[in-house]
Amino acid sequence: MTKNPFRVVALPTSLAETARRNAAAGARDHRTTTVESAQTAPCRHCLTWANPGERVILFPFQSISSARPYGESGPVFIHADGCEQYSAPNEFPAAFRSGRALRAYNEDDEIVAAQLAGDAPEELASEMFEIPEVQFLHVRSACHGCYTFKLERA
Ligand SMILES: [Zn+2]
Repeated sequence: MTKNPFRVVALPTSLAETARRNAAAGARDHRTTTVESAQTAPCRHCLTWANPGERVILFPFQSISSARPYGESGPVFIHADGCEQYSAPNEFPAAFRSGRALRAYNEDDEIVAAQLAGDAPEELASEMFEIPEVQFLHVRSACHGCYTFKLERA
């Protein structure tokens, strides 16, 4: 098996901890809820689906700087009560192998390719990294469009 040409980047633990502090302090743009249905709240820190009954925080994440034309901020969930950051950077997260779209960005944070990933996200990601100007990819929900995680060149 060939090594994937990418590295999986989850939200940093420091950012997750800041979101948990902001939620506890009652920040208006942070909402803590209890998950009701399976596969509705992907945690961007541990890169698994939060289970029904688990508490999650919903808050806006700036996935592309607002100083860029393609600047983008959007809603993301993290587990409210702590979790371990995703620790297998060489493996595409099993929980998100389907239902995702990939966007490829250049060094100016501009989208140069975008496609539904189907059920073979590693293959599409590898193809996108063959485009020389591609610096990183966003893995997003195919239906909601929400940011799930980032892939950087390995
Ligand atoms: Zn989590």
